[in-house]
Amino acid sequence: MGQIVACANQKGGVGKTTTVVNLSTYLALAGDAVLVVDLDPQGNATSGFGLDRDQIQHSVYEAIIEDRNVTDLIVTTAIPGLTLVPSSISLAGAEVELAPLPQRERRLARILTELVAAYDYIVLDCPPSLGLLTVNALTAADAVIIPIQCEYYALEGLSQLIATINLVRNHLNPNLAIKGVVLTMFDPRTNLSAEVAAEVRKHLGATVFETVIPRSVRLSEAPSYGLPIALYRADSKGAEAYAALAAEMRSRDGRAVSVLRPIAAELVSGINDHPGAADGTLG
Ligand code: ATP
Ligand code: MG
Repeated sequence: MGQIVACANQKGGVGKTTTVVNLSTYLALAGDAVLVVDLDPQGNATSGFGLDRDQIQHSVYEAIIEDRNVTDLIVTTAIPGLTLVPSSISLAGAEVELAPLPQRERRLARILTELVAAYDYIVLDCPPSLGLLTVNALTAADAVIIPIQCEYYALEGLSQLIATINLVRNHLNPNLAIKGVVLTMFDPRTNLSAEVAAEVRKHLGATVFETVIPRSVRLSEAPSYGLPIALYRADSKGAEAYAALAAEMRSRDGRAVSVLRPIAAELVSGINDHPGAADGTLG
């Protein structure tokens, strides 16, 4: 039976989507069957896997609002073993359209029930809000991953997120676990990053993943090429970090250590031909 993992934080720009795209990729490369569901109307996970948002014909919106069969909405990605239910701009209206619907918090949970047996992990990318889409994700999920950016006010808003998680536990999904907090955009050159990381670990203890995601130019460039970091720059620091995060998560889940699937040469060739790919060691 697969596990549904929501990546959530109502704070914008903390690394939710980057984590979803790259963690999912390394889970798939470790041999897991992975489905990513892009629940953010911005569609950054969708475009992060190279799908053109303007070309998306069918999205998760149709399953959530129009009761369309979700299996018709699944598309393949360049990563073997990783499929995606894309987002589209129509999802922007879903918060409002969900409001009057019966069981409005459970629509996604109901949809994913029929899929969960076919995957090892279903990973949900949440929008930066605590609205009905995020509540649907938390209601459907077995566990939540919370990215926290290593910057001032890192913990701001966290109590609100925890309160929402507790509300969902009390009323909708009693078994929702916190899978872990991921420290993102860690800059080893600044004291601030180290201080924030220490502070977060002091407050949240063992829920914080040991793996820390460094600030990495390569990670921020990869989405503009529609590539997970494993296909863009597999040798970068950011790639190593997300591979380590996937390994840590699999080990927490008691999954056997796995040799990463090789990435087919035809996927990689041509990718590194663009300007800017050859220089720099900033990882
Ligand atoms: P939103 O709340 O808008 O959905 P988000 O929480 O999903 O944002 P991302 O989109 O993953 O955050 O990241 C925000 C920006 O920071 C993006 O431009 C992304 O490329 C960049 N970024 C994310 N992680 C890193 C990193 N480790 N190093 C450098 N840049 C990063
Ligand atoms: Mg995002």
